[in-house]
Amino acid sequence: MFESLQDGLSSALKSLSGQGKLTEANMREGLKLVERSLLEADVSFEVARYFMKNVTEKAVGETVLKSLKPQQQVVGIVYQELCDLMGPVDHSLHLKGKNDVTVLMLCGLQGAGKTTTVGKLGKMLKAGQRNPLLVAADLQRPAAIDQLHVLGEQLGLPVYSDREEKDPVKVCNAAIKEAKKLGADVVILDTAGRLHIDEELMGQLERIDKQCSPEQIYLTVDAMTGQDAVNSAKAFNDALEIDGVIMTKLDGDARGGAALSVKHVTGVPIKFMGTGEKLEALEPFHPDRMAQRILG
Ligand code: GDP
Repeated sequence: MFESLQDGLSSALKSLSGQGKLTEANMREGLKLVERSLLEADVSFEVARYFMKNVTEKAVGETVLKSLKPQQQVVGIVYQELCDLMGPVDHSLHLKGKNDVTVLMLCGLQGAGKTTTVGKLGKMLKAGQRNPLLVAADLQRPAAIDQLHVLGEQLGLPVYSDREEKDPVKVCNAAIKEAKKLGADVVILDTAGRLHIDEELMGQLERIDKQCSPEQIYLTVDAMTGQDAVNSAKAFNDALEIDGVIMTKLDGDARGGAALSVKHVTGVPIKFMGTGEKLEALEPFHPDRMAQRILG
């Protein structure tokens, strides 16, 4: 595991040989390499700094183990800290009983994979013997409504939309009423995205949150967008108090550092990860696997 980082570290940690304890001085070169590796994996600069400070504090004073090479020991500490900070895992959707309607709200920037993820969640819930209703609350782009209807058809799931209505709050409230009529027990709101955060978008999402009281609000974040992912996660979380994150596009070559950054700035669990365009490509998020991927 982590051979490439360990290779790099073996000479950087030369000053560790013969020492009894890890110190800031004897790990300095090695920790610089670890920091570079995190930045290459798309961890944001600010989070990488914070992380390295934490790791240094934890490592300093530890006994140099005879059973391990120094590089293995340092990577082990880094790996454990990555797992701790990206956890704990919480894959629960906090669903109410089947006689109630649970409202899940998805938000995210345009192109992050929100509508696709609404479909993926719908498929997962159907497989779990639930009756989801998908709701097209993205009124900005008529194509988004069509896209959700196509997904609904593929999945054999009902889709609520109202092409005449201009107020997404009204659409969401009407959809929740419709769910009760249809016997649906989970409503998944596909809200509008924008290419960039703007006040109008946030205001709209805040109104849906206040007036429709979703049980859970999930932010979809494109893992390929690195630094931007962090800025948008911060803005969405400030406006909405999100309950979880779904990282998408982790089938690509993103090293996944955005997961650490987003967890750090939001403090909420990363619940699932999207691993492809197909509707079955949604997996529970595992911090240990992501830590391995970040360390490469
Ligand atoms: P939205 O604007 O946030 O609703 O994004 P969409 O759901 O329309 O997705 C934008 C693009 O990303 C589409 O081409 C999707 O097929 C693609 N996409 C979504 N999730 C994933 C994923 O996990 N992996 C890959 N490779 N593509 C994804």
